[in-house]
Amino acid sequence: MQPAEKTDAEWKKELTPEQYRVLRKKETEPPFSSAYVSKNDRGVYVCAACGAELFSSGNKFDAHCGWPSFDRPVREGNVIFTRDTSHGMDRLEVTCARCGGHLGHVFDDGPRETTGKRFCINGAALTFHPA
Ligand SMILES: [Zn+2]
Repeated sequence: MQPAEKTDAEWKKELTPEQYRVLRKKETEPPFSSAYVSKNDRGVYVCAACGAELFSSGNKFDAHCGWPSFDRPVREGNVIFTRDTSHGMDRLEVTCARCGGHLGHVFDDGPRETTGKRFCINGAALTFHPA
């Protein structure tokens, strides 16, 4: 993928205030605030900032945690993992490989019958494209 490099001012102009806080300032949206939490339509979830394909509805599951949850990204390499020790926790941050936007975190308590991973993703970081 081509990297999408923009200045902070450009991102602030292009994104909604909520998208900007999540994607660029790494904030977490309140649980159950995104309409995508309970969305079951078939399609693909792309990065709200740069449009990169990130997650498929086929890999979405209901984790009852309040954020859209997936057991894997749509393609290896479309997301980047970084250790995040902020807020007194040791977590693995998930960012968009194309624009570096913050998406959420990945945990090891996902569905055992598939990957065992739970990609806990802010709905504000995603845009849904129906199949
Ligand atoms: Zn992106």
